[in-house]
Amino acid sequence: MENRRIRIGIIGGGLAGATLANSLFRLPSVAVDVFEAAPEFSERGAALGLAPNSQLALEELLENAKETLKNAKSVPIASTRFMVVSFFPGSAFGQPICDTAWLLPSSSFLQSCPSDDHGSGPDAGNLLLDLGDAAKGDPELIVHRASLLRELLAPLPESILHPNKKLSSIVSTDAGVKVFFADGTEYDFDAVIGADGVFSTVRDHVLSDESKQYSASPAGFWDCRVLVPFEKARKALGEEIFSVDRQYGWLGEGAFIMHDVLENGTLVQCVISSVEDESPSDRKHILTRDFLNKALKNWLSGPIANGVIDLVLEQDEPRGYSQWEHKATPTYARGRVCIMGDAAHASTPWQGAGAGQAFEDGMILSALLSHISSADDIEAAFKVYDAIRRPRGQRVVDSSRGTGEIMCGKSEAGLDPGKIMQALAPRWGFLELDFKTYVQEAVNKLDERLRA
Ligand SMILES: Cc1cc2nc3c(=O)[nH]c(=O)nc-3n(C[C@H](O)[C@H](O)[C@H](O)COP(=O)(O)OP(=O)(O)OC[C@H]3O[C@@H](n4cnc5c(N)ncnc54)[C@H](O)[C@@H]3O)c2cc1C
Repeated sequence: MENRRIRIGIIGGGLAGATLANSLFRLPSVAVDVFEAAPEFSERGAALGLAPNSQLALEELLENAKETLKNAKSVPIASTRFMVVSFFPGSAFGQPICDTAWLLPSSSFLQSCPSDDHGSGPDAGNLLLDLGDAAKGDPELIVHRASLLRELLAPLPESILHPNKKLSSIVSTDAGVKVFFADGTEYDFDAVIGADGVFSTVRDHVLSDESKQYSASPAGFWDCRVLVPFEKARKALGEEIFSVDRQYGWLGEGAFIMHDVLENGTLVQCVISSVEDESPSDRKHILTRDFLNKALKNWLSGPIANGVIDLVLEQDEPRGYSQWEHKATPTYARGRVCIMGDAAHASTPWQGAGAGQAFEDGMILSALLSHISSADDIEAAFKVYDAIRRPRGQRVVDSSRGTGEIMCGKSEAGLDPGKIMQALAPRWGFLELDFKTYVQEAVNKLDERLRA
């Protein structure tokens, strides 16, 4: 056993599974296989924002992270401008409240906003800060999801990538873990890591009798997004907001609209997120003009909503998707099986931190698995992983939901720009971590456990 490689099966070939596989396949002590339900490894959706702390987690996990992001054609976001679409007394309709990052790299930028002066009166809603200048050298990146996945998988030998393999069940055996797939095949591993997303089958195994109680549930928001050619977006939304290449977030009653320029300035992604009273069982809303006009009813005489609604409705079958999350998770590990990424802590996208959290899971798992030399120690490694990662993963889920409430004017801050700034200020600081110390803490805990 000491001299044999530890066999790890990863279920799910999304960003979480691919990132971990990219790290594990380099370890001489590990043999890894990745199983993906879809006929090919692919990512739906367009842009993924990566805050500096998410990039640092990826760098800690993968030596060639910078090169991977470069090859995936990630681009730095110069700045993001938040606009308030509010009826706050005295506010200038649709004026910027703060230039800052959607994925704020540091809460200190927000804390430095002199927001008290701008909550009301003639200055209400004026520009408070331009992060584009402040964030020199440490920008948020935006990357096409499919390109990042392609680059993460590129170095992996084809022999370890198994598409068309939908996991149906898992059985723990004396020798390890047996996994069964819908096509009738089965494989044996020393350990299995579930990176199979929000409705994870591996999560059901890990949580066993409690899995229903802790399954994903609606977070209270839905969102939709559309990609349109740059010129079309400029015509629909107005020339002025495209004069500088920046991401915009519009805050208003019951909703949030965002748009950003992608793919070397050729495409614009528009997103509408809104509060949701009732989530359909299939998580999909059929979008009609009536539905969108109702969701944005207090926006329609303003500058942005009508244009974005038109763009969204031009799609073939416009759909909105309910945001679901894990409100609590009693454990990330059971025996030699554990969960990571959205399978462990599916979150709303309001803090743009989901992928970063998956990278952090991978960073800790990879460090722990490289620290053991026998499959007998896997259970201890997974227990440490659970202890280190679960409180932080859940904190992000909870913080992200709260951020959505602020962004849609549903928090105590309402749509008062000054109060919004104060409410947002403490939300990003905790995401920044010294990852080297964090990893060392995990390894020390594992040593203690193994000694005991
Ligand atoms: C609208 C939206 C916007 C977001 N924006 C950002 C952002 O800007 N920045 C950020 O950091 N995060 C963002 N996130 C979060 C981020 O996208 C996710 O946290 C991340 O993609 C999760 O990756 P994952 O691999 O854990 O899960 P997934 O991407 O869901 O991958 C799971 C994989 O497992 C496969 N699978 C499922 N079941 C099985 C099975 N039984 N057998 C085998 N395979 C299976 C699936 O086919 C899939 O390929 C956003 C999320 C949403 C919804």
